[in-house]
Amino acid sequence: MRLQIVQPIKSIDELASFCKRAGFVFPSFEIYGGMAGFYDYGPRGVELKNNIKAAWWKSIVQDREDVVGIDAVTVNHPKVWEASGHVASFTDPLVDCKSCKSRFRADHLAKDILNVDVAGMPLEEVTTLLRNKNVRCQKCKGELTEARKYNLMFKTHVGPIESDENVAYLRPETAQLIYLNFKLVQDSARLKLPFGIAQIGRAYRNEIAPRDFLFRVREFEQMEMQYFIKPGDNKKFFEQWKKERMNWYLSLGIKKENLRFREHIKTELAHYAKAAVDIEYKFPWGWGEIEGVHDRGNWDLSQHSKVSGKDLSYFDDEKKTRFVPNIIEVSAGVDRTFLAFMCEAYATEAERIVLKLNPKLSPIKVAVFPLVKNDNRIVKFAGNVFSDLKKKFVVYYDKSGNIGKSYRRQDEIGTPFCITVDFDSLKKKDVTVRDRDTMKQKRVKVKELAGYLEKQLQ
Ligand SMILES: [Zn+2]
Repeated sequence: MRLQIVQPIKSIDELASFCKRAGFVFPSFEIYGGMAGFYDYGPRGVELKNNIKAAWWKSIVQDREDVVGIDAVTVNHPKVWEASGHVASFTDPLVDCKSCKSRFRADHLAKDILNVDVAGMPLEEVTTLLRNKNVRCQKCKGELTEARKYNLMFKTHVGPIESDENVAYLRPETAQLIYLNFKLVQDSARLKLPFGIAQIGRAYRNEIAPRDFLFRVREFEQMEMQYFIKPGDNKKFFEQWKKERMNWYLSLGIKKENLRFREHIKTELAHYAKAAVDIEYKFPWGWGEIEGVHDRGNWDLSQHSKVSGKDLSYFDDEKKTRFVPNIIEVSAGVDRTFLAFMCEAYATEAERIVLKLNPKLSPIKVAVFPLVKNDNRIVKFAGNVFSDLKKKFVVYYDKSGNIGKSYRRQDEIGTPFCITVDFDSLKKKDVTVRDRDTMKQKRVKVKELAGYLEKQLQ
């Protein structure tokens, strides 16, 4: 057997250009020059993304008895974000160049240039740090202003009048909408603690410096689940969800050495959090957060209760006591997860690029080809195989008759199995099944084909 030299991904730019060429992800508004921090998903990308979301939803909601889902709006009442603390403190430290007016995140400058983590550091200290180390504009070497707060929420107005009374925000996270629906969900679904509410949806952050392809973008999707618990059960469920979520990535093919937990130190904890841990993936540029597991205490429900004047407490039937539930949150970025799965799967071998995705995530599960395009019997046979398989799987049918090229195209988009109908098929009523990873071929009887594939794709 020939020795395969497998090259993993070298840079995120390499992946971005591959994603564009192979129809996974395109820069948004490209014909108008694009806009930083916005990406559209193409024909292959939308399938992969939907499969990631479906796998998450199945494991978090459908496979469990204690979690239900919702889907809430993205244009939000301003009170939500005042109560949550986002209006006051969902900010990044920003500095401007006094000469060319470029803007930078002060924390990124400190990290990239000085290798100092300034999370939680007061703004004056950040300013002093940058000045003492003579950090200057990255474009023109000009002098930088003092660090100041910059709110990341997109603001808009509801209705025809642009006044302060009509302000609304595009939600910067999906979590708050779950808290607002807590009572309605609990009553209508008759749930008892502990239980969870899950949501997948879009969120928006006006990032100063979008970067690293899909990693830091301005419009993105989140997969979040808020688990409501009795006060005192925090530690137990925090540990349980940490483990569950890590296992989810492992079960879908990410290697253990490319994942890690990173505990937040006290100064970087968000204003609501009692404990927090990130699940990080080893991207080509280094470790980056793909999910957060947070112990939010009872901060969120208490705040909304206080600001709205509505009671959001829970009555424990057995103990006849009333209290505000605590919350353990698991919050994953769909786009970041997508990026992690792509980085993990992408490999260049001697004569091909191959995406070794877990078959559950592959955009297409099976591709069917007639060996030649000019023999009606073979084309018809292949057409029948396709019609039969598409009832059970996502199948691609390619009549071009150029098998070598067709295999390469399917390898690139991660299709686990390619089926070829040849002259022998007509006599023996069988086909060849080619495995994406090993490139080995095997003959399988047509009547056993669906069962064989089903078993392989499990
Ligand atoms: Zn400048």
